[in-house]
Amino acid sequence: VTSLLIDYLGGELARETVATLHKHLRDCPDCVAFLNTYRTTVQATRSLRYEDIPARLKDRLRRSLREQIKRASARR
Ligand SMILES: [Zn+2]
Repeated sequence: VTSLLIDYLGGELARETVATLHKHLRDCPDCVAFLNTYRTTVQATRSLRYEDIPARLKDRLRRSLREQIKRASARR
């Protein structure tokens, strides 16, 4: 998921994945705040570092996205 966020910021995600991520962002202010901060940081430094993402946020995002992807594929 960390790489997912980084790909997202780099505009390198598949459209389906972006849609899932956007759904998640709607009810996860933590990730929204993180993305906003991260975007600014990336623009300032032009560097992406995985370790910049707090572990707690990584866990939470991973769990939530996994659930949403599971739900989305169960609907098919
Ligand atoms: Zn989140």
